[in-house]
Amino acid sequence: SSFESMKLKDDLLRGIYSYGFEAPSAIQSRAITQIISGKDVIAQAQSGTGKTATFTIGMLQAIDLKNKDLQALILSPTRELASQIHQVVSNLGDYMNVQSFAITGGKTMKDDIKKIQRNGCQVVSGTPGRVLDMFKRQMLKSRNIKMLILDEADELLSETLGFKQQIYDIFTKLPPSCQVVVVSATMNKDILEITKKFMNDPVKILV
Ligand code: AMP
Repeated sequence: SSFESMKLKDDLLRGIYSYGFEAPSAIQSRAITQIISGKDVIAQAQSGTGKTATFTIGMLQAIDLKNKDLQALILSPTRELASQIHQVVSNLGDYMNVQSFAITGGKTMKDDIKKIQRNGCQVVSGTPGRVLDMFKRQMLKSRNIKMLILDEADELLSETLGFKQQIYDIFTKLPPSCQVVVVSATMNKDILEITKKFMNDPVKILV
């Protein structure tokens, strides 16, 4: 398959090619169209497979650029990963003028909050604690989010990091119609539990 055959927005296709991608990886061929179709998706995929661009392209296709509300939330287990994902969103979305922010602990949010108030915020890549805090303080609105992405979900939900309750709290703040995309290297009972509680007949993709 090719990126052209995915019927992507011209500005998104342009972003993909100028980022240097020529053809989709296996997971991209299989998962992007499912995400675009609006289905809940669980992809079992490791780093290095092109997973980040998979959910980023699917998400950017779904964003309504005229609407300045927060529409997509990407959660990942570390500040570094959340920042890297934000970079990929910015790069692939370079021609779309999408308002994207990295919302993580460990830095002051003052400048970001000013920019969000001025220009809106359509996409957030963040870690659970800081994102939940921004929702609680009403600096971010959760009610128009149409896509939630959990990257490295096995790590995100692991006991060691202790994010599980925060992620459940975030789920309760999302509209019931919110599409959910989960990417995980391994499948375990925490992921199955999320699937049962918050996902609607998910498509499973193993690469
Ligand atoms: P990831 O699995 O998201 O960690 O991506 C691994 C690496 O593959 C990253 O450096 C991406 O930029 C690169 N990559 C992802 N998709 C493609 C593609 N379709 N063509 C070339 N490189 C890609």
